[in-house]
Amino acid sequence: MDISVYVASLSAATKIAKELINADRALDKADLKLKLADLMVELANARTEAIEIQTENARLTRDLAEIQSRLSFQGSMRFKSPYYINVGQGDRGPYCANCWDAEQLAMHLIVRDPGEWLCRRCKQFVEDEDYKGPEAPQIRLG
Ligand SMILES: [Zn+2]
Repeated sequence: MDISVYVASLSAATKIAKELINADRALDKADLKLKLADLMVELANARTEAIEIQTENARLTRDLAEIQSRLSFQGSMRFKSPYYINVGQGDRGPYCANCWDAEQLAMHLIVRDPGEWLCRRCKQFVEDEDYKGPEAPQIRLG
């Protein structure tokens, strides 16, 4: 994809068309066919480049939307010890602080016990205010 190729092809096509319009003498059939063939080649090149530019534009538009979405996600991450919550998304998390701080990876934490969370990626356990601690071992008597 090169916009300069597109512009050059259109310029060449325009030049050929002007030559045809401004010809001082009537062109014989062979010369006319040759000029028209050159004109068609330049227009075909311009069309090919325009399609490539359109494809690239669509890809860049998608990439931009993805980057904007990522920036929006990053901008709404809030640290609420011991993990991150995303205040701007339907899916609030919680997310692993270890993975987010180190690599900006939004890794969901999974509940291991009430208030105890595990990151499946970095294997870190964190406990929030709901954590009651390990249950006392049951001692069986008799
Ligand atoms: Zn993690």
